[in-house]
Amino acid sequence: MSFDVDTLPPVRGKLLRDAPLAPYTWFRVGGAADALFLPADEDDLADFLKSLPDEVPVTVLGVGSNTIVRDGGIAGVVVRLMGRFWGAVEIDGSQVMARAGALDLSVAKAAGQAGVSGLSFLSGIPGSIGGAVRTNAGCYGSELKDVLRAVEGVTRRGERTVLARDEIEFGYRHTDFPEGVVVTRLLLSGTAGGDPDVLAEEIASHQARRAETQPIKDKTGGSTFANPDPPGTVDGRSSWKLVDAAGCRGLHVGGAQVSEKHCNFLINTGEATAADIEALGELVRARVLAHSGVDLRWEIRRIGRLKV
Ligand SMILES: Cc1cc2nc3c(=O)[nH]c(=O)nc-3n(C[C@H](O)[C@H](O)[C@H](O)COP(=O)(O)OP(=O)(O)OC[C@H]3O[C@@H](n4cnc5c(N)ncnc54)[C@H](O)[C@@H]3O)c2cc1C
Repeated sequence: MSFDVDTLPPVRGKLLRDAPLAPYTWFRVGGAADALFLPADEDDLADFLKSLPDEVPVTVLGVGSNTIVRDGGIAGVVVRLMGRFWGAVEIDGSQVMARAGALDLSVAKAAGQAGVSGLSFLSGIPGSIGGAVRTNAGCYGSELKDVLRAVEGVTRRGERTVLARDEIEFGYRHTDFPEGVVVTRLLLSGTAGGDPDVLAEEIASHQARRAETQPIKDKTGGSTFANPDPPGTVDGRSSWKLVDAAGCRGLHVGGAQVSEKHCNFLINTGEATAADIEALGELVRARVLAHSGVDLRWEIRRIGRLKV
């Protein structure tokens, strides 16, 4: 450990030492954080980061639906925004204010109940709304950028910052959102005057479609590789087809397996380590490269130390 956790600044929320992170990720793998900070609110987060020595690394984790935490754990402090304060969603006309820890599904449901249309697609993404920013999360033809107006956050130095949508460059599952800023709140907008019953049906149908096509009951991390061609482009090559064509459906490494149901998903069949999952992903990339010449890009974020 590169710093003494006993000298960390005092907090009003929770600060847990040597905290296992596997329970906080969908894959249920990975080691411990040197320290896990669950801030009580924005002031708690800002005060802590202001007092935290510069050399201590800070990593943000949402609900871990797009992340592999490696088996050696994470150096420094992991920040996670959870609890009632961080899950709040407020609606005003067509505007939706969501704190970063709110689940995308909760944001979609709150908007739908208030008759705000345009946000139902979020119900198909099992992450937190704060976690949707970095990758411009999206599905069913819509992306976060389509409904985002502004992002509030706290910098590594503990300063408050607000970025308007136009100050962020958005691409397919990618943004230039500044590293080191913890997203605390999003301002989104849709169209007011929608029928809550129709929007509830839209959400239910997104969820039914998900359950049919994806292994959502498994320990997984969502789409492993970004599609080589963003949706709407002429070639439209999708990762799952390339993985399938390379003969990888059902492929195993240790306790990790390429899902039989959707072969751009890797799953932990029970006893996988993070190393198994990452090795399987690399094996798939190598086979796809050999078969079709496409060098797939990891969409899942892999963080932390290898276990030695
Ligand atoms: C079954 C399944 C289906 C999925 N389907 C889709 C889909 O259709 N479309 C899609 O886009 N994704 C999909 N995903 C991936 C995932 O749900 C999204 O990427 C989601 O936005 C990640 O949110 P999270 O809270 O889990 O983030 P995490 O996995 O915890 O983190 C992801 C990234 O966001 C950053 N981050 C998280 N919270 C914050 C914050 N408050 N401030 C700053 N940075 C933060 C992290 O540092 C990290 O870089 C799917 C995943 C699963 C398991």
